[in-house]
Amino acid sequence: MKFRNFKMVGFVIYGRGSFNQLDEILAPHRKGEAPMIFLVDHFFENGAATGDGKPLINRIPLRGKDKVIFADVTYEPKTTQVDKLAKQLKDEFGTVSGIIGIGGGSTIDLAKAVSLMMTNPGSSADYQGWDLVKLPGVYKVGIPTLSGTGAEVSRTTVLTGPTRKLGMNSDFTPFDQIVLDPELTANAPANQRFYTGMDCYIHCIESLEGTYLNEFSKSYGEKALELCREVFVNKKQWDAECDDKLMMASYAGGMSIAYSQVGVAHAVSYGLSYLLGTKHGIGNCIVMNHLEPYYPAGVAEFKKMVEQNNIDIPVGICKGLTDEQFDTMINVSLGMKPLWENALGKDWEKIMTREKLRALYEKL
Ligand code: NAD
Ligand code: ZN
Repeated sequence: MKFRNFKMVGFVIYGRGSFNQLDEILAPHRKGEAPMIFLVDHFFENGAATGDGKPLINRIPLRGKDKVIFADVTYEPKTTQVDKLAKQLKDEFGTVSGIIGIGGGSTIDLAKAVSLMMTNPGSSADYQGWDLVKLPGVYKVGIPTLSGTGAEVSRTTVLTGPTRKLGMNSDFTPFDQIVLDPELTANAPANQRFYTGMDCYIHCIESLEGTYLNEFSKSYGEKALELCREVFVNKKQWDAECDDKLMMASYAGGMSIAYSQVGVAHAVSYGLSYLLGTKHGIGNCIVMNHLEPYYPAGVAEFKKMVEQNNIDIPVGICKGLTDEQFDTMINVSLGMKPLWENALGKDWEKIMTREKLRALYEKL
């Protein structure tokens, strides 16, 4: 097919306090006794509150055999973690009515993947790639508590597997429902909010500067960029309006890359994450700091935002690595062909040589 015909999220609810409608939203999707499974970011395990001051965990509309499972997101999602969760649920319940992921991008991705692995045979590692998933998963809902990744709208779930870090990209991956309630992001620490928010900013720069750009991507990308600037450049003090705006920036940024691709920062950061376990948001920031040759205006603005928001970006994280380790990162990174092609065009392999990429990694 010449034009990509992509599947989008089924239903979207947006607004402060919209989380309170969750019970009503889920009701028509309950299948007899089969429970709803709430996969909740472990940040909320000890009663952490959201913007309305109440512990999130007390606001989950549990019924019948419904279950809360806390997602350990100390490390980003792994295929082994997904397989284990899906097996646990199949052993305990046979089938479930749905999976509701509540948390940052890692928890959101886990929820998508576990939903798919409730119905697809084998291991989630078998489905890392493009359009390998064959069956719809169980009903799934995404409820972000951090804004920026766009994972709430994307058709992928990024997993680290035995041989690679790659998403389960498929038409079955997008959520059936998302609940965008900016109140849930209110208590995020400033550094984390910035790193995840910059994921959105970087998605926009990579999409808008990329060769895959069309008017669809451009329209969403420009809006997301404008919202990022409003919160990270124009605002002196973080407030509720910033949470509202950043949540919509994440949504629009995700829509922008749905029809284009990310670029150099992501391709390089995937290598860091694979070898060193560097988290997505901070990894992108570490790389972006050194990408003047590729995105001069975006990097200058990025540096201004870092300074203005008083954020620490680590340096020297590749110091002392062996040749073999550099090679591993280079292999992972160069394996992200669509990202490089979007960033540098059809001849990207002539432009981004192994030597050039090694020199870039050495700077980080
Ligand atoms: P995250 O989900 O990894 O969470 C980062 C930290 O913040 C964790 O310790 C978490 O417990 C904590 N946290 C979550 N909500 C919080 C809140 N409200 N207040 C305080 N702390 C909170 O961070 P992220 O940046 O949202 O997500 C990164 C993940 O998203 C990566 O795994 C990445 O691969 C994935 N991702 C997926 C897509 C996609 O399209 N599927 C796109 C981009 C990134
Ligand atoms: Zn990203």
